[in-house]
Amino acid sequence: METGASRGLVRGAREREMHDRDNRFAGTAGGGASGHPNRLCYKEDIKSLGRVAIVSGTHGDELEGQYICYEVARRISRNPENLAGVVDIYPALNPLGVDLASKVLPVTGMDMNRMFPGDREGSAMERIAAAVVDDLIGTDLCIDVHSSDIFVQEIPQVRLNEEFAGRMLPFAKLMNVDVIWMNATATVHEATLAHSLNIMGVPTMVVELGQGNSIHMTYGNQVVDGIFNVMHEMGIWTGEVRPPQQPAISSDGKVEFIRSETDGIFLPRSKHNHFVNVGEPIGEIVDPMTGQLKSRITAGRDGLLFTLRNYPVVYEGDLLARILTGIM
Ligand SMILES: [Zn+2]
Repeated sequence: METGASRGLVRGAREREMHDRDNRFAGTAGGGASGHPNRLCYKEDIKSLGRVAIVSGTHGDELEGQYICYEVARRISRNPENLAGVVDIYPALNPLGVDLASKVLPVTGMDMNRMFPGDREGSAMERIAAAVVDDLIGTDLCIDVHSSDIFVQEIPQVRLNEEFAGRMLPFAKLMNVDVIWMNATATVHEATLAHSLNIMGVPTMVVELGQGNSIHMTYGNQVVDGIFNVMHEMGIWTGEVRPPQQPAISSDGKVEFIRSETDGIFLPRSKHNHFVNVGEPIGEIVDPMTGQLKSRITAGRDGLLFTLRNYPVVYEGDLLARILTGIM
């Protein structure tokens, strides 16, 4: 993938042609006078307009956000008259990682999502992190899209830090996701982009969906519908939107983690994204050489199976599934 993917994602030649033909929209799209090649806006005076940012690719092997950025930009470019605000798209914050299918920053091995808010006087990567934050300051809402890892698949979900839940929950409920998980592990904690921006007064939520190294377009379209819902609520999008589905909300982080107690090959025995009861089968771990069943995994609690392993090889301690309990 080319490093300058944002240029291609923001506007294709055909969209540019459509826009050029229609001079009712005098502002900038895909750059121009604004100096923001990643900006979609068709108005002149942007100061009074609402602004949303869609951010992805902090982890270079998480590519679901590539489709989401594309689809948001595509839908806007099809109906530019409905865009009443500013949409900034950042598809690849870690472009080297995206190019090399690497979660972390290549060569250094550092996790970019543990470097925020960065340091203007620091190392090269700290300066880049600081520049990203500087660019995002002033955004009315930032949506940071992640896609699990290469091992487990996630149904579309918003993850919120409880510290900011009061402000963020109304936005999260419009996102058309299946689950809102409060206080989700490390994904929303200190040094992440989301936490840093929230501390600095930029409302930010983390969206997780799908799986690393892949694109699930059905999940992507679901989240894109949610993004347009949120933009509609903020007055940034005047076009038609679909009512969001009701997400299951974890009341206080009551998530059951199911981890493997042995090595082997994991065979799922349950459907992803459905409610399970205690004792219901989740999967089996088998030994391909002897044909033996090594472990039978069952649900320890009732709830929604929202994370399920998709990568077959497992070692002791690996994550197999997560069940959301205590659903509000
Ligand atoms: Zn991530």
